[in-house]
Amino acid sequence: MNADAVKMLPGRYCNSLTEYSRFVTREVAIGDIPMGGSNPIRIQSMTTTDTMDTMGTVEQTIRMVDAGCEYVRITAPSIKEANNLAEIKKQLRMRGYNVPLVADIHFTPNAAEVAARIVEKVRVNPGNYADKKKFDQIEYTDLEYRGELERIFQKFTPLVKICKEYGTAMRIGTNHGSLSDRIMSRYGDTPQGMVESAMEFIRMCETLGYYSLVVSMKSSNPQVMVQAYRLLVQTMVAEGMNYPLHLGVTEAGDGEDGRIKSAVGIGTLLEDGLGDTVRVSLTEEPEAEAPVAIALVKRYIQRKAESEKQKGDEKKLSALDFQPSAHSPYEYEKRETYEANAFIGGHMVPRVVIDLSAANLKDPAVMNDAGYIYSALLDKYNMAEQSVDFVYLGDSLPSFTLPGNLKQLYNYNTWQKLTNKTLCHPLFTLHEYIAADANRTSALNLVRITNADLETEAFGLIPLDKSLVFVLETDEPHGMADQRAFFLKLQEMELDIPVIIKRSYALADHSQIDLTSDLQLYAATDLGALLIDGFGDGIWIDAPHVATGVITSTAFGILQATRSRISKTEYISCPSCGRTLFDLMVTTQMIRSRTSHLKGLKIGIMGCIVNGPGEMADADYGYVGSGTDKVTLYRGQQAVKKNINSANALDELIGIIREDGNWIEPAE
Ligand code: SF4
Repeated sequence: MNADAVKMLPGRYCNSLTEYSRFVTREVAIGDIPMGGSNPIRIQSMTTTDTMDTMGTVEQTIRMVDAGCEYVRITAPSIKEANNLAEIKKQLRMRGYNVPLVADIHFTPNAAEVAARIVEKVRVNPGNYADKKKFDQIEYTDLEYRGELERIFQKFTPLVKICKEYGTAMRIGTNHGSLSDRIMSRYGDTPQGMVESAMEFIRMCETLGYYSLVVSMKSSNPQVMVQAYRLLVQTMVAEGMNYPLHLGVTEAGDGEDGRIKSAVGIGTLLEDGLGDTVRVSLTEEPEAEAPVAIALVKRYIQRKAESEKQKGDEKKLSALDFQPSAHSPYEYEKRETYEANAFIGGHMVPRVVIDLSAANLKDPAVMNDAGYIYSALLDKYNMAEQSVDFVYLGDSLPSFTLPGNLKQLYNYNTWQKLTNKTLCHPLFTLHEYIAADANRTSALNLVRITNADLETEAFGLIPLDKSLVFVLETDEPHGMADQRAFFLKLQEMELDIPVIIKRSYALADHSQIDLTSDLQLYAATDLGALLIDGFGDGIWIDAPHVATGVITSTAFGILQATRSRISKTEYISCPSCGRTLFDLMVTTQMIRSRTSHLKGLKIGIMGCIVNGPGEMADADYGYVGSGTDKVTLYRGQQAVKKNINSANALDELIGIIREDGNWIEPAE
């Protein structure tokens, strides 16, 4: 361990659940740009060009550096590409770009040993470096297991020695989808298996006196990814280690989905002070990734100072004992709540609230952005897949009839004056609710509350019955932790009141270009970090400067990414790299255009057969490049049509979905 001794106690995964505090890791030298310790959280990405295309790779690397990348990873599938890294590096240095390069290795120790003499860092995947994934042995005795570890040690040692000699760093990069047979046999497809897979390699490095390590635990499922990183930190701390963490969600996809999924995974960990470098994987041009990573990371530059400034001397948050007994951060368990008015809480999916109080409530078409498509001809609404459950109207009264199944929220005083209260519910302040007495409704009463309110006398006066739902707000800079503290305290008090998590984003100082993207990233971080732990019976994103339609789709996107409410098809598409066998962006759009109505299906779209099948992990179907103009189709992890012509591949995929009874015709 280095001089910055691990300050965290064993059993913990972060320094504090309430205060922003960065986990201090060992500093690792990577070219001129060190990582870990007190260095800023570094930004990185990966090229998509063929590594043998020297100038194409150089040009793309330059675009990535100009976009904010501090390290650039390049695939080295064989010795030939590994050797060409020297030429790429030379050309970059000639142009004044000293960016540290990282060689990405899968299955080819010989390529790694070449690359480690050339570039500043190599990434190895412990699931496939010297290990195997052939499904030909599913049981390992202790003796066989130890024998395998010894064999891997022999194969891995030369690379470690080269890295030591050349001052090259190494990332031990575990992927959920590519755990070896050996690990799967003992731990299964679990976060614990991912952690153990990396720890075995880390221990081998330490045995050889090599410590220039960075570790990652990626998955396309943000929940698995978050649990794996937490468990990794807990395990490292228990063994006296503090290696820097490389954060990423694999195969996040593109556009809104890719940003939200990335933020749910990466943002959740950043909130707890974990992470020394971030790579956002999007199925877009690689230079589009760095700005997203930068936007995620920049929130934490001032987080500690802002929190301290806001609190002053008076601590609003009561210090929580680190790990409340009722909640485990290493496995998903939804917080138990009662069902209020048979509409929210209990086993129901989280509800979505949007604010239409400032909208034009004279025009029924305003409901389109809330997922109720108004037909003026028929004077009726059609529900879309993403129709919100509540609209907040404040003190405004609509002059048209709202959709029949949509609940309306009004400020208490306005609600009291409504003549027809069907589907209309009051939103109280805490004091209004206590004072309202007989004026409360027996159906559904929503009460605004903050974490700080739990410490007040008023909280003890709240009448408790099953019509009560909290709307949890925060104005704390470290708001996620503030809201999480509220949930943990409710659990300690054994109160099963449903809670709608509300976050407000002024974003007044953001440019129009950044508004949508930043809202997606911030809301996905703040709300996703709670949903991923099973907290929240509903979400409410308040962003007055952002279009209502964007808020609605962001809310449903967050619920989809946390797998708490499925409202659309999920695409697990790889970001592409030098191995890619087709145009990922074009192909993803083509597949999306014909399958986006298949709500709940997960379709993997992977650029190569080497890593693709493993990486798409829990997809229901897979479309995987297996040669020039050739595609192999998967049902789950099973290849069902091999090397078919890419011109027919999408029709064939739809045929398989149809055979399984999972196809529905798209609406006219
Ligand atoms: S799955 Fe995609 S990103 Fe991963 S190695 Fe294959 S082509 Fe590259």
